[in-house]
Amino acid sequence: HAKAQGGNCYHFYSAEMNSGVSQRLSLETGLRYALERNEFLLHYQPQVDLRSGKIIGMEALLRWQHPERGLISPVEFIPLLEETGLIIPVGEWVLRTACAQNNAWLAAGLPRMRMAVNLSAHQFRQSNLTDVVCLALEDSGLEPELLELEVTESIMIHDLQTTLVTLNQLHVIGIQISIDDFGTGYSSLSYLKRLPISKIKIDQSFVRDICDDPDDAAIADAVISLGHSLKMQVIAEGVETVEQLDYLRAHGCDEFQGYYFSRPVPAEAFAALVHEQTAIS
Ligand code: C2E
Ligand code: MG
Ligand code: MG
Ligand code: MG
Repeated sequence: HAKAQGGNCYHFYSAEMNSGVSQRLSLETGLRYALERNEFLLHYQPQVDLRSGKIIGMEALLRWQHPERGLISPVEFIPLLEETGLIIPVGEWVLRTACAQNNAWLAAGLPRMRMAVNLSAHQFRQSNLTDVVCLALEDSGLEPELLELEVTESIMIHDLQTTLVTLNQLHVIGIQISIDDFGTGYSSLSYLKRLPISKIKIDQSFVRDICDDPDDAAIADAVISLGHSLKMQVIAEGVETVEQLDYLRAHGCDEFQGYYFSRPVPAEAFAALVHEQTAIS
């Protein structure tokens, strides 16, 4: 019925739509085959202890090596994976690959580090999540304590009782749970204390201007004290400068992650970073 609007408007509108829709369709078709074509890969970003300056863990971040378009960022295709339900098999691949990689590093003599894996709300609601996670641990041989699952506040919007049951099942196995992008979503503080959460991640939007914007600094301070009062670790995301790092250290934050230390890097580069650090100390 766009035609009813008449004239040039129709042509312009339809051309715009077409390119958007066909681009989306071709991405979607590509995504359907990406798993079997082995086009997904993981990059790893170090998580660093603020006191010792040592790498104590890493976050696995999904990348898509597109045959024509090159390396594609997850912000471009995760929403599509979620809409199509493909996030379930792809998420399982991420989990299995990350667990296997962490255990391989351990076997190769790297220090014990915790591997953090992102779970979308959609994955979190799949009924057999605990089985999928257990199988990934069993097949890789990784200890549950060396796996951390990052969830967002959005998992609390839906049925809290189910969320509680799932998180408790994972917690009992020994898996760590962290809340990603904390402060940006639906947040009910009273739920926090009822859930078995071991770590809060301060979202990078609060870290960005932490040195200049008193409001962001106040939010970061509040998240740090809240986390510590609830006996949780607090990690800051998106740390890019030494000033941000100094602020966070002075205010008692436990860990950080960000370009200041390293961007997310391929597995070999990550291992090299760890080796370099072990050689120095
Ligand atoms: P996230 O889980 O909050 O991951 C942190 C994002 O911040 C990553 O973007 C990382 O590259 C970026 N980052 C890290 N340090 C800095 C910094 O100092 N400055 C800036 N500007 N950015 C920094 P990336 O890799 O593009 O991932 C974006 C989002 O995609 C992730 O946000 C996560 O929500 C989602 N994602 C990535 N991999 C997966 C996955 O395997 N499964 C699911 N469900 N989601 C994933
Ligand atoms: Mg994350
Ligand atoms: Mg985050
Ligand atoms: Mg994010």
